[in-house]
Amino acid sequence: MRIEFDRDTCTGMFQCTAEWEAFEENRDDGKADLRDSEESEEDVFVREVPDDAEFDAKMAARVCPVDAIRVYDDDGEQLVP
Ligand code: SF4
Repeated sequence: MRIEFDRDTCTGMFQCTAEWEAFEENRDDGKADLRDSEESEEDVFVREVPDDAEFDAKMAARVCPVDAIRVYDDDGEQLVP
């Protein structure tokens, strides 16, 4: 499973940080940071989701009020939101 985080869209409400610990608050920027991610295009960050974190990652995507987080399965199909 892969997660994609559009940091430009993020409005820093920090609901995601309560769902998956890979999302961290960056109060200086007013944005979340996705730990261990790579920037795939400008302000879009991606990383693999470990098997034991799949539920938490999907929850983080569900609670984001601006849909800045998307989760894809290994075939590239979007699962959430
Ligand atoms: S829930 Fe969405 S808007 Fe809020 S910090 Fe996380 S990614 Fe940003």
